[in-house]
Amino acid sequence: MTRALLVLLPALLLASLLPALDPAPKSVAPHLPATWQAGFARAVITPDKPLWMAGYAARNKPAEGREQDLFAKVLTLEDGARGRFVLITLDLIGVPQALRHRVADALAREHQLPAAALLINASHTHSGPQLRGLPPSAEDLANPKIRDAWAYTQALETTLLRLVREALADLQPARLTWNQARCGFAMNRRRDYSLPADHPNANRVPNPEGPVDHAVPALRVESPDGRLRGVVFGYACHNTCLGFYRWCGDYAGYAQEALQEHRPDFQAMFVTGCGGDQNPYPRRSDVVPGVSDVELARQHGRTLANAVEMAMTVNPRPVTGPLRAAYEEIPLAYAKPDRPAHAYPVQVVKFGADLTLIALGSEVVVDYSLRLKRELSGPAGVWVAGYSNDYSGYIPSLRLQREGGYEAATGWAEDAEARIVRKVHELHAQLP
Ligand SMILES: [Zn+2]
Repeated sequence: MTRALLVLLPALLLASLLPALDPAPKSVAPHLPATWQAGFARAVITPDKPLWMAGYAARNKPAEGREQDLFAKVLTLEDGARGRFVLITLDLIGVPQALRHRVADALAREHQLPAAALLINASHTHSGPQLRGLPPSAEDLANPKIRDAWAYTQALETTLLRLVREALADLQPARLTWNQARCGFAMNRRRDYSLPADHPNANRVPNPEGPVDHAVPALRVESPDGRLRGVVFGYACHNTCLGFYRWCGDYAGYAQEALQEHRPDFQAMFVTGCGGDQNPYPRRSDVVPGVSDVELARQHGRTLANAVEMAMTVNPRPVTGPLRAAYEEIPLAYAKPDRPAHAYPVQVVKFGADLTLIALGSEVVVDYSLRLKRELSGPAGVWVAGYSNDYSGYIPSLRLQREGGYEAATGWAEDAEARIVRKVHELHAQLP
């Protein structure tokens, strides 16, 4: 035995007894310059009292406890020039438009952030609290349900502004990549309208032949030394595994939790896609004996997290600047002429020539993402989010309006799809 080995032996022995350390950070795109600045922040927004829950009209009592914490999360991005972007994701039912307006106004005052550079997306969990966008009347304030929802929404607004401040203070050099994977538990939840209603196969729900968008886009953020700092990922599916009386982020909450589980200082952020007519399946424990609803939600969350792991790892595509954003609220008319038009938000965010993020308001059905991805396909990846910046019911496509059914009952005029798609193209074309 040589003297060198004698000296080394105790060290080797000691090393074998130590617990395995985290592997050294490894960049997925080491040759890509870290030209971005990225900052993260998050906070628990689980109500601290038994508020009424959002999402199902049939609820008859307030929440009874917590299954999983709800979070508000912020990512701030700067492209190294003058382009900025602030993304807020919420484990909540939707984004009240008035809340978006107040947050955008405050960020413009406090940080000179253009309104177009703010995107607020909700996971549409049906196990979160009711929200209230506008201040209630004195009469409404006497109703504890309304008073509590308004108090919660006001506190949420304060939290969001604090988180943006924290995320801006956290800005550090970063490298961005993106890619997408697939995840299959979303299925079309509408019946097959191509068949007459009395056809034996017409009422199969979910409809295995119905349109779906199974893409899982993921924007990956790492530090210059390759340390993974965060991911923003999307999926087009109702966040409705659960229908109980406990706070929970549902499958999207479990997907974020699974991604963060073994990664300290890492933030996973979920962005809901155009899942207005999509549900997670299998759904409800009555179809899977011995598996609870919560366990099903966890399984779907883990499945989605696995797809995100793939999207973050396999063939990462560079995301460079400049960052450019456009936002407009367009009048969306109702079929009944006595109802005033709604100011519907359409947002386009371009990450240079690499990735285009389109964010549409409210419960957008899957036809929108399939159509926009087809029509805008080119060298840049296209990512279409729904449930952004507004929460005012279903946004059916013309196809759904003609077919009828649950998601078509919002009562929009038949030019809704044409107006929205036209505005997306217009904003997309006007951004350099
Ligand atoms: Zn919904």
